[in-house]
Amino acid sequence: MMYQLRSDHGGHSIWLPGKCVCVARNYAAHAAELSSEVPTRPTFFIKPNSALTDFAGPLQIPSGQGAVHHELELALVVGRRLSRPEQASLDAVAGYCLAIDLTLRDVQNELKLRGLPWEACKAFAGSCPVTPLLPAAALPDPAQAELQFSVNGEIRQRGHTGQMVFGIERLLGAAAAAFVLEPGDLLLTGTPEGVGPLHPGDRFEASVNGLSFPGEVAL
Ligand code: ZN
Repeated sequence: MMYQLRSDHGGHSIWLPGKCVCVARNYAAHAAELSSEVPTRPTFFIKPNSALTDFAGPLQIPSGQGAVHHELELALVVGRRLSRPEQASLDAVAGYCLAIDLTLRDVQNELKLRGLPWEACKAFAGSCPVTPLLPAAALPDPAQAELQFSVNGEIRQRGHTGQMVFGIERLLGAAAAAFVLEPGDLLLTGTPEGVGPLHPGDRFEASVNGLSFPGEVAL
């Protein structure tokens, strides 16, 4: 069964994301912590609907494949079809979620070394926990959002969407040109620095502008 995004806030409350378009290295400090260059144009990858799962968990994370890293990201929910860059604007955003771009980091490093595609490390089932949908009005200026992620009470990631290399309209336009965005699709806007491993039994909490969402990893 396809994963549906739900809102706790009424309005158009159910969306069916066909895909999650994710951007690599959209915060300079995160690119630096992975010893990666900051790109000169957005670099995308895709997670399918089967990657989506409820944020609160308990999350089933892969075992026996090395480190599973958290990447907290602001996700936009696309509200109307975008097929050309000039159609991209903030009024095409139906709402927001927080998402964790779960990444098999050791697998990714191996794929990068060998010049292979990233699906094995990024697009596995359950690799994209998402919170319930926040209405667009909850973030009147998505370039002014404070993001924070803590694990077992310790702050790991803290960032501000104003630090993005490519802003939201640029990302929407580039993703529309590359893939076409359909209503319900998610656009993950990249992670600030501080990515690190999650382990069975961890409890975590993510927040955007002080609005918090707890979750846990299955034992
Ligand atoms: Zn990411």
